Amino acid sequence: MGKTILVAGAGHGGLAVAADLARKGYDVTLLEKKAEEALGYDWTDIFAPQSLIAAGVPYPSRSLYSYKENMTFFPPAQSVTLTQNVPQDEREIKMERRDIYAHLVAHAKRCGVKFRFETPVTAPLLLGSRVCGVLAGEEKLYADLVIDACGMDSPLRSALPQVCGVEPEIGANNTAFVYRAFFARTGDFTPAHSYEVYVLHQGRQEIAWVATEDDYADVLIVRFAPFGEDEVQQALADLRRTNPHIGEEIVRGGQFAKIPVRQPLSQMVADGYAALGDSAFMTVPLIGSGIANALKASHILSRTVTDDKDCAFTAETLWKYQVGYFKLLGAGYAAMTCLKNALLSMEPAEVDFLFERGILTEDQITITANTTNLQSMMKMSVKDLVDRAKKVCTDKILLTKILRIASQIASATALCAMMPHTWATQNVRKWVANYNAFFAKQQKG
Ligand SMILES: Cc1cc2nc3c(=O)[nH]c(=O)nc-3n(C[C@H](O)[C@H](O)[C@H](O)COP(=O)(O)OP(=O)(O)OC[C@H]3O[C@@H](n4cnc5c(N)ncnc54)[C@H](O)[C@@H]3O)c2cc1C
Repeated sequence: MGKTILVAGAGHGGLAVAADLARKGYDVTLLEKKAEEALGYDWTDIFAPQSLIAAGVPYPSRSLYSYKENMTFFPPAQSVTLTQNVPQDEREIKMERRDIYAHLVAHAKRCGVKFRFETPVTAPLLLGSRVCGVLAGEEKLYADLVIDACGMDSPLRSALPQVCGVEPEIGANNTAFVYRAFFARTGDFTPAHSYEVYVLHQGRQEIAWVATEDDYADVLIVRFAPFGEDEVQQALADLRRTNPHIGEEIVRGGQFAKIPVRQPLSQMVADGYAALGDSAFMTVPLIGSGIANALKASHILSRTVTDDKDCAFTAETLWKYQVGYFKLLGAGYAAMTCLKNALLSMEPAEVDFLFERGILTEDQITITANTTNLQSMMKMSVKDLVDRAKKVCTDKILLTKILRIASQIASATALCAMMPHTWATQNVRKWVANYNAFFAKQQKG
């Protein structure tokens, strides 16, 4: 076969797709800007272990992970709680990010992937409108296919010429800014719930979680605009009022990061190019989880590549990957983006009402990155939401907002169903323009 594939970025998606393609006989080189020892962050991640199997990656050793507890959600007034009820066999696992990467790197090496660490790619190389390689510093590296797994700020995606049709930027209000640290526990206070999530925390545009472990409290603070140390201290002071066990000493983490929280990228492929994982905005828009999706998508991409017997790797042959991703997950996440945007535009008292009057239920907050049949779950969930809202909602403004969410979700679902199943340039361009316009309008409210 001898076809060369460059994968840029050794995140979950990049490592998994590189391994799968190398195993199938392609000549795969993975370019990663960091050193091998510096991959990842100093914290644990939660993800659906079945996604490893879906990506053709073996399970890690049992000693490396534990099972995640159900999350308990608090509305702004903290007047009631809602706890997830994830079935035993669908529970996600919790694993050190560095261990996940070490596991994926070892697997990729066994599959024959060639690694070049400390090699940041800076731009795509183009032959007309076809991506034919990447620029890494002064070096020009050519390939039959470039897989962009560089994450949300990918320098490859953002430098593609307009003619390729791929959206370069993430867009306003689509980034979650995150601070995460593990604090030593103090005193003998034990919270009633081991994994607390505060929605619109203290009435701010903020989500915070406290996951209590034996030795530390894992605190995550999420906002939708950049923030700094002052806001962290403010959130911590508020959290400590109900969680006095959160000590002052940071034992791990203490870093700021970013996560894309938006609808999937409208066009993930171009001639010689495919975007994967965060660079194609594949995270769950409500919670920012992206590991399972990047892993599952890696397999769809690798299958699409191997199905292209002539190794043309054009937008036309790679389009099947996008269609497969939207069918499995993307359409559901596009619909979920409407819900996320609506929740963020609600007043704290309205969110309190949704919790207190049972309009939001356990089932709805149990939708995770592991949920199968995402599209039908979203549909059912919204129908239930509307039915319950109609019964108890005396506030006309809130009811109108809920009905509008339902109608936007229905429109997003219909729009995704209209995505062309096979590539025809004009049809794809038209669909992409409609999809982008729909979400741009939504952002404006
Ligand atoms: C604080 C935080 C907590 C999270 N927790 C979870 C969680 O618990 N569960 C979950 O499912 N998801 C979680 N996520 C999201 C998850 O990290 C991502 O969705 C997932 O890692 C996406 O994988 P990816 O393959 O797109 O690569 P990314 O993780 O985005 O990695 C991209 C890789 O590309 C490399 N790179 C970037 N630029 C270049 C360049 N120019 N040249 C070469 N290499 C480059 C980077 O160094 C990196 O190794 C979290 C994210 C953050 C920030």
